Amino acid sequence: MAKIFTDKDANLELLKDKKIGVIGYGNQGRAQALNLRDSGLDVIVGNIKDYAWELTKKDGFDVKEIRETVKESDVILLLIPDEVAPKVFKEDIEPYISPGKVIDFASGYNIAYGFIIPPQGVDTIMVAPRMIGKGVRGLFENKKGFPVLIGVEQDSSGKAWDYTLALSKGIGAFLPGGCGVSSGFYEETLVDLFSEHSWAGAMLYLLQTCYEVLIEEGVSPEIAILELYASGELGEIGNSIAQLGLWNQLKLHSHTSQYGHMTWGKRYITEETKKIMKEAIEEIKDGRFAKEWALEQSVGLPSFNQLWKLRLSYSLCKEEDELYKILGRR
Ligand code: NDP
Repeated sequence: MAKIFTDKDANLELLKDKKIGVIGYGNQGRAQALNLRDSGLDVIVGNIKDYAWELTKKDGFDVKEIRETVKESDVILLLIPDEVAPKVFKEDIEPYISPGKVIDFASGYNIAYGFIIPPQGVDTIMVAPRMIGKGVRGLFENKKGFPVLIGVEQDSSGKAWDYTLALSKGIGAFLPGGCGVSSGFYEETLVDLFSEHSWAGAMLYLLQTCYEVLIEEGVSPEIAILELYASGELGEIGNSIAQLGLWNQLKLHSHTSQYGHMTWGKRYITEETKKIMKEAIEEIKDGRFAKEWALEQSVGLPSFNQLWKLRLSYSLCKEEDELYKILGRR
């Protein structure tokens, strides 16, 4: 069983005399930098001279070029997109990070697949929020926590786990409702990619197919889109699953709905589904997905761009645009 950590396990004092350098000021970077500063820690930001540079200054941070931030910081949080991190690491971090420092990742991906090799003598840790950046900040402001998967890849100081816990506390994960779960870079990558390649991806295709079937049955696009996801009911159900449990939340539905969910809903999941899931696991474990994605990036994202073009050409997207304009969401 995984070990669960809470507030009592973490000591923020460990970070009190340290300079924390947050690299990247996007979804996670901004949220974590603001939370760490509000936790009383000394935070500087490293970013490229781009859109976020100005925002960083507006938020009152000392912002510098990435390599300068790395030189000045004791603890470095690498919070830039996973696909750009290996190049940035090679050029702007590795040459300037010295033994005794700590580097923290919010995802296991680059270490798990060897795209980044932990530098010698540097504590290499992971604090991976199970929460989008907006939620990391919003929950903190409401004095609530969120779960983080934590792990240590290289413990040079003998204090890497303590740093992991202290950082989790600093970003607000251990406020009420949150916790840290002991994991590792490989496990985090496996569960993260598996979720994206299985239920999360399949859900989008399932909703798309449901839309097509309803339209073929003469249902109007507006009603189909509202019924399937635009009403926000889907989000409410997701929230109820988180609060009450996967099946327990069904008790909030009518008896007719409960019966339908438990009986006629089941036929879409067959033995074949599980076989596909096992294959997906193998593709993640042996690096097939990571290699394919790395190759796609190295040739300038032709398939990725084509996939986007095709998805946005679906009639669902056009109808959705019209409806969302009326609803004031565009
Ligand atoms: P974002 O896409 O929001 O990060 C954007 C930041 O990275 C910006 O500051 C951007 O600068 C900077 N950046 C973009 N390209 C480059 C580049 N080539 N060189 C240097 N800096 C660059 O990332 P996320 O916050 O989404 O992800 C950060 C990490 O957090 C990842 O490891 C991700 O897996 C993990 N994570 C993300 C979650 C999320 O909520 N999205 C949830 C949990 C984990 P500028 O804007 O100035 O161009």
